[in-house]
Amino acid sequence: MDIKHGKREITIASVKGYLWFLCLNIIFGAWLVMRVYTGGMIPLEADDYAYTLIAVMIFSVLNLLLTFQLRENINKGLYRKCLPGIVLVFSILWSVIFYNLLNDFSQPTITMVILVIILLPATITFYLSARLLALFTAPIILSLIYGEVFSPVKFTLIQGIGAVIILAVVLSARYILLESWLRTQRSEYEKNLLIKKLVKLANYDTLTGLFNRRSFADYFTQSIQQLERTEKSLFLIVLDIDFFKQYNDIYGHVEGDKCLVQVSRCIEQSLRKASDAAFRYGGEEFVVLAVCDEMPNAVTIAKRIQQAISDARVRHAGSSVSDRVTASMGIAEWQPGMSLELLLEFADKALYQAKRDGRNRINQATTP
Ligand code: GH3
Ligand code: MG
Ligand code: MG
Repeated sequence: MDIKHGKREITIASVKGYLWFLCLNIIFGAWLVMRVYTGGMIPLEADDYAYTLIAVMIFSVLNLLLTFQLRENINKGLYRKCLPGIVLVFSILWSVIFYNLLNDFSQPTITMVILVIILLPATITFYLSARLLALFTAPIILSLIYGEVFSPVKFTLIQGIGAVIILAVVLSARYILLESWLRTQRSEYEKNLLIKKLVKLANYDTLTGLFNRRSFADYFTQSIQQLERTEKSLFLIVLDIDFFKQYNDIYGHVEGDKCLVQVSRCIEQSLRKASDAAFRYGGEEFVVLAVCDEMPNAVTIAKRIQQAISDARVRHAGSSVSDRVTASMGIAEWQPGMSLELLLEFADKALYQAKRDGRNRINQATTP
């Protein structure tokens, strides 16, 4: 089983792990070369054996340099495509080394030790990809079986059991590593899901799906920062549904909630996505922050909202201005240095003037 992350299969768990694997190849290679020339080897074949070790070291150094260059990209592009081949080259080189150790030098004990030393790092590095792990392990095991059959010094039963144990260690280590990797992935996924939920709860109104009052202040601060780079101005539209108390009294709270959702959709569909944002400020009051050139543009937005609410044709038997749900709006223009509280105060005053003037209308504030 190869692990897929999104659509892309992950081959190497971590770049650091792969670098460590390559370094170990160099260190073991160097150590075995030292063993050749400090005794213990039959001189005749020792040179060929040392050349294979040097090949492992050179190949490791080349891959080490490439990995330093590519970093996370080793799991992408050409290197990723070449990885099975690279792993196979390592495996074949080590197979030759193990075969030599067994067959030419008759050293089954040291073979087993080196086998563990080399197979465990490979397992830790390639456990996410069954293909890579098999490509590394299979040739080595096959060379040992071949060595066992053809070696003058036969593998004993005990050594055979040892090989099985080593294989079992590799497989169980992979299983344990995979299990903990999957657990980490799962908890990471759940954590991200929870963060998304919390962000949503913190910034959005659960009934209407609009931004809530909490995110209004943040958005205002961001907007005036962005304004500094433009010639435009910021406008606040405060909207309050007319006779909503009566609406609740006649149709009930549940229908009242549905009406609030409908009005929200009307507001949303009347805005330009990039420059305007709508918020549920409280109960049946909504605010819109719009970046416009001048007041008439903001009035146009307010008129679009008014038209959309009218077009929604939500019946309202308790309203004395219309037989449908209507809303009153106050608009105020932000002036440099003006606080959000003051801007709200101006827009609120304009809104209450609209209410006093008979409701279902739009009123502009005169800001200093
Ligand atoms: P006006 O035209 O002057 O705005 O009259 P109004 O009745 O709309 O004014 P008021 O602000 O007094 O009433 C608002 C009502 O909105 C009171 C409350 O019952 C209702 N309300 C506030 N929040 C909610 C809500 O989440 N759901 C429902 N269904 N009703 C709400
Ligand atoms: Mg109100
Ligand atoms: Mg109202």
